[in-house]
Amino acid sequence: MNPINLFEQVNRNFDKAASYLPYSKGLLQQIKICNSVYHMTFPVKRDDGSIETIEAWRAEHSHHKLPVKGGIRYSPTVDENDVMAFAALMTYKCAIVDVPFGGAKGGVRIDRNKYSRSELERITRRYTYELIRKDFIGPGIDVPAPDYGTGPQEMAWIVDTYSMVNKNQLDSIACVTGKPISQGGVRGRVEATGRGVFFGLRTACEDADDMKKFGMRAGLDGKRVVVQGLGNVGYHAAKFLQEGGALVVGLAEYEGAIQNPKGLDVDAVFKHRTDTKSILNYPKGTNLPTSYAALELDCDILVPAALENQITEQNVNHIKAKIIGEGANGPTTSGASESFWKRGVMLIPDTFLNAGGVTVSYFEWLKDISHVRFGRVGKRFDEASHTRILRAVEEMTGKRLDEAKLKDVILGADEEALVNSGLEETMAKAYTDIRGIQRDHNDQMDLRTASFIDAIQKVAVAYEELGIFP
Ligand code: NAD
Repeated sequence: MNPINLFEQVNRNFDKAASYLPYSKGLLQQIKICNSVYHMTFPVKRDDGSIETIEAWRAEHSHHKLPVKGGIRYSPTVDENDVMAFAALMTYKCAIVDVPFGGAKGGVRIDRNKYSRSELERITRRYTYELIRKDFIGPGIDVPAPDYGTGPQEMAWIVDTYSMVNKNQLDSIACVTGKPISQGGVRGRVEATGRGVFFGLRTACEDADDMKKFGMRAGLDGKRVVVQGLGNVGYHAAKFLQEGGALVVGLAEYEGAIQNPKGLDVDAVFKHRTDTKSILNYPKGTNLPTSYAALELDCDILVPAALENQITEQNVNHIKAKIIGEGANGPTTSGASESFWKRGVMLIPDTFLNAGGVTVSYFEWLKDISHVRFGRVGKRFDEASHTRILRAVEEMTGKRLDEAKLKDVILGADEEALVNSGLEETMAKAYTDIRGIQRDHNDQMDLRTASFIDAIQKVAVAYEELGIFP
């Protein structure tokens, strides 16, 4: 279905990184291949009583760690090759951000806009049932999550179906992440991928030497950003980048794009699109004819956050951004990545930059298997300790803090604060790690290659320690 073979693209990046590493051919092959793929077809009854056959997949790329993890996409173009490619990306992504899972991905070939809510529910529940039948889902086996075209509602149907079949399984709510809070979700998961994109870009932009190469000052402040895709990843990335001081000068959706060199208000544009069903004709913006036109706008940071293969050899030379932040999976083909590298454009790869989703999914899974909300046990204790310390300082200094200030200072962390700070730490550390690998190679490789080196090394250790590859 997809004109560009995504799995081949991912493997090309893998091979490039592997050429720097000392591992045997056999070990590299074992890391690279997809361990299992389940292709299924099942019937669904439409609201008008007719029966339609649905085609779907689940790919488990690497069983070096269990469970495996990866989103489910609902898209009319998804195919087996795509899910294998995205599953492979998940393996590398989990390794880069030290999430102890193998990679997986699911796909259901439907255009969700053509189905009613009850039809979507029947499709989701049947897909889940098919996964259960073949042991392709379970808290310790394979844990799906949202991806393109799915969200908390589908995850709620999945956990409900799984729990109905596995009635006495204590950890059944950990069979899927990205659920609503009432169904065992974690606060901060919905925003996590976009927030991770923000943390990743902010960390990269804090490097004064790197920014100097582009004639820019360190920090996000005032940097002009264009975001493609105003869905889960794109909307949140744009919102947090704006809140972090960046100027969002262009936003794109599939029906077209808008720009304003003085900045667009992300929430106002989002509301305009919800109200009018189109991003176009936003009163404080100028229309652009296509989503692709926005990619070519004059800006400092371009965030493709919609779909794969958006930047190809065809349009790469028209792109003016100095930094590309891959919010989507596979938005840049390997040929286009090479052009960016030759032109000195900094490409921050998907394998790192959109890993915020799986990081917080990991936190959700931990919450579900431990059956306790983050912060519940320690919050009050921390607040009492902080109060005692402050009271002691007040006694020593003879000065009293006013009560409003005191409340601010003693505040113990709740679930959302802990999740967000865990995500911030993860993204900052992972960026430092991959940028470090790049520096160790005298900056003679791009960040994508550095990120694959990081991932391959971590997966290789797992196999080597099993003693399979002496
Ligand atoms: P989503 O369905 O919430 O949003 C995608 C948005 O892109 C939609 O608003 C859609 O209308 C828009 N779009 C489609 N074609 C477009 C085009 N040609 N130009 C501009 N906009 C277009 O999906 P999402 O969850 O935000 O996922 C987006 C990308 O991020 C995918 O590549 C996905 O694999 C990746 N990703 C998602 C997550 C997650 O947690 N949701 C995590 C990691 C990676």
